[in-house]
Amino acid sequence: MENILIIGGGLMGSSVAWQLSDAGEKVVLIEQQGEHYTSGSSYGDARISRSLGPKKDVFSFVHNRTVEEVGKLIRFLNANSPKKKHKMEDVYTTSPVSYLYHKSQYEDVRKLRFKKQRRDYRSGSGDSAFRKFGMTLPDDYILVREYRKHSGTLNPRVLIQKLRLGIEKKGSQIKYNRKATHLTKKQGFYEVEILNTKTNKSKVIRAKKVIVAAGAYTVGVLAEIAPYFKKLITPKRVSLSYFKISEKRWQQLSKTEIQRILDALPMFYQDGKMYFSMIEKIEKSGSPVFKVGGHMMRRNIIDLDSIWEEKPRKKEVKWAKKQFRKHLEMLEIYIKKKDIEYVEGYNCVYAVSNTKIPFVTHIFDQDGVLDKDIIVVSGMSGVGAKGCLGYGVLAADLLLGKGETNATYRKAVRAFGNPLVRLYTKRKKANRLF
Ligand SMILES: Cc1cc2nc3c(=O)[nH]c(=O)nc-3n(C[C@H](O)[C@H](O)[C@H](O)COP(=O)(O)OP(=O)(O)OC[C@H]3O[C@@H](n4cnc5c(N)ncnc54)[C@H](O)[C@@H]3O)c2cc1C
Repeated sequence: MENILIIGGGLMGSSVAWQLSDAGEKVVLIEQQGEHYTSGSSYGDARISRSLGPKKDVFSFVHNRTVEEVGKLIRFLNANSPKKKHKMEDVYTTSPVSYLYHKSQYEDVRKLRFKKQRRDYRSGSGDSAFRKFGMTLPDDYILVREYRKHSGTLNPRVLIQKLRLGIEKKGSQIKYNRKATHLTKKQGFYEVEILNTKTNKSKVIRAKKVIVAAGAYTVGVLAEIAPYFKKLITPKRVSLSYFKISEKRWQQLSKTEIQRILDALPMFYQDGKMYFSMIEKIEKSGSPVFKVGGHMMRRNIIDLDSIWEEKPRKKEVKWAKKQFRKHLEMLEIYIKKKDIEYVEGYNCVYAVSNTKIPFVTHIFDQDGVLDKDIIVVSGMSGVGAKGCLGYGVLAADLLLGKGETNATYRKAVRAFGNPLVRLYTKRKKANRLF
């Protein structure tokens, strides 16, 4: 009998596994992919890392907590490896983060102005945006730029590698090529059928406690034990396009222009299709590869397993290129269409919750009774990465029956456990779910 089994080894499963292992628990983490992470919401080299928000914002809280916890992980790894080669900079690339708001969203911008963050961000529109950021904005837009330590991007690939190292150094186990195919509850324990995706052989194991962190596959994993999750979580596809400025044109840019591009990324529009762009990586030649997408250009998925192989639609790539050019034009940098080269593109998938707020929650069993031995960490949509270790802390505490007293922590527990609160208070609605 295993003590704690974690299903899914993306950013969330790895974060919870690390937090539990750090708390002295021995866990078994199973991941359906091989050691090399090739598909999942956490795939890639860059995610926007940002903490700007209104007072007591739970998303700022999980981001800040993640920065803190990555620091602890790095210290642990260095204390336990002779070369002490781990650094925060392996995970975080610090740079300003820009947010473009429409003037109709002025109330949202106003709420950002609270004491602690005021010194970490600046905002401007019209001429003031040009003076402050060298950006020519459309008349009805406001630019907000956050700049604090570890705002910018975080690298999920590197963070997962470090979490795995930490988990194993603490004596917990990670098993690759293991897919949970059935999860059921028996008398006081869980039974999980696990398929070895290499040998095609299945085995049943038992566990006292379970964490489900299967990303877009969460609904399938919970199909037998909590089928109502299909009404709470929906997998969505977001297409990503990668561009380069042609080598010749890149060389023609002045140092000031290059700096202006670097300062203007990552960018995240707060209205419309919610265009975002960031530097995915810098090539050996020194020129960057830009990742571009639209947060609200989410599409439904027919077949979750094959979606990774499908290429983005032509019109999605065209839209991304157009927005990227417009973005550069706001910096007074004019690049011809032919000089923006398409490097590659693919569909990335994430799980979106019905409330658009992630879940770190227990489940109700088939009789409508709260089952405290299982936690679901999912529905992270496009905001999970920056807060992964924060969600990890909340999930580990929830499973171990621990908690912290500070107000924002408690607010986060309530916010991410929200479906439960609603189910408790609206029994009628709950009954419809079963
Ligand atoms: C296009 C895109 C852009 C994003 N941009 C940002 C951003 O800028 N900033 C930000 O903070 N966040 C961003 N995110 C969100 C963030 O990347 C995700 O929220 C996060 O990676 C989710 O991690 P996860 O562990 O829940 O899911 P995953 O990484 O998908 O992990 C789930 C894992 O479970 C495994 N699994 C599934 N089923 C089983 C099974 N039955 N048995 C065993 N293993 C199983 C899968 O193989 C997978 O490895 C973005 C996401 C996408 C897709």
